[in-house]
Amino acid sequence: MDYLFDKWDKLKETLVNKHIFLFLDYDGTLTPIVDYPDKAVISEEVRNLLKDLSNNPRCHVGVISGRALNDVKKIVGLKNIVYVGNHGLEIESPKIKFESQISPRLQSIIRRIKEELSNRLSKIKGLFVEDKNVTLSVHYRLATRNDYLLAKKIIEEIIQPFLVSGKIKVTNGKKVIEIKPPAQWNKGRVAEWLLARQTFILGDQPIVAIYLGDDVADEDAFKAVQNKGLTVLVGKPKKSYAQYYLKNSSEVMQFLRQLMELKKDTTIC
Ligand SMILES: [Mg+2]
Repeated sequence: MDYLFDKWDKLKETLVNKHIFLFLDYDGTLTPIVDYPDKAVISEEVRNLLKDLSNNPRCHVGVISGRALNDVKKIVGLKNIVYVGNHGLEIESPKIKFESQISPRLQSIIRRIKEELSNRLSKIKGLFVEDKNVTLSVHYRLATRNDYLLAKKIIEEIIQPFLVSGKIKVTNGKKVIEIKPPAQWNKGRVAEWLLARQTFILGDQPIVAIYLGDDVADEDAFKAVQNKGLTVLVGKPKKSYAQYYLKNSSEVMQFLRQLMELKKDTTIC
């Protein structure tokens, strides 16, 4: 895995005269990881950079998040980009409106799990259940190790029957456990789909994907687009499907700036 800025001079040549689909995860990528999700606020500079990039006809910007669609839309607050919420279960842009169909039975299972989790976990400190409508997240960043282990046991007890019967799927992110429908729709599938859609719209004009993310769920996307552009892990280099890394969200901002610079110099996007 190479440090992106070490290779930038060479990499930027591969982006010249092409359309770019810039995919960005939100938490940990556009903002630093913080104790509470509602404290993860995008900086004005990043918002302006995304705005400028998205206003360029050769640049297509998508924010792909595990947050609920309405949440991510609200915190980013830009018009001309694609928003993906709940890891792909919800997609919205000026031209796309997609919501994965969840059966009423599955919805009631998610509701039931939420109630049980809220009841049984409410006494444990440093833990909270986030209701993202079609999915649930249990955040445990502020819990002690013992409290986390206790909570994990309770969560397993609650979800086990639904997990065994394939009604739900569980994944782990950074200090978060996600409970979701068993749909095969993930960040990788959605990035692939958006890229294919844009490729079709553009016809003969070449397009390159750039995907930046920091967490386990982003690995699906790194894998999906690794032969179609640049994949960038945000954080310490480690075993990953991403080809490059940037150290933190400040470096992501720097990268966005450089992308803008490139755009001014050439016809890159
Ligand atoms: Mg993230």
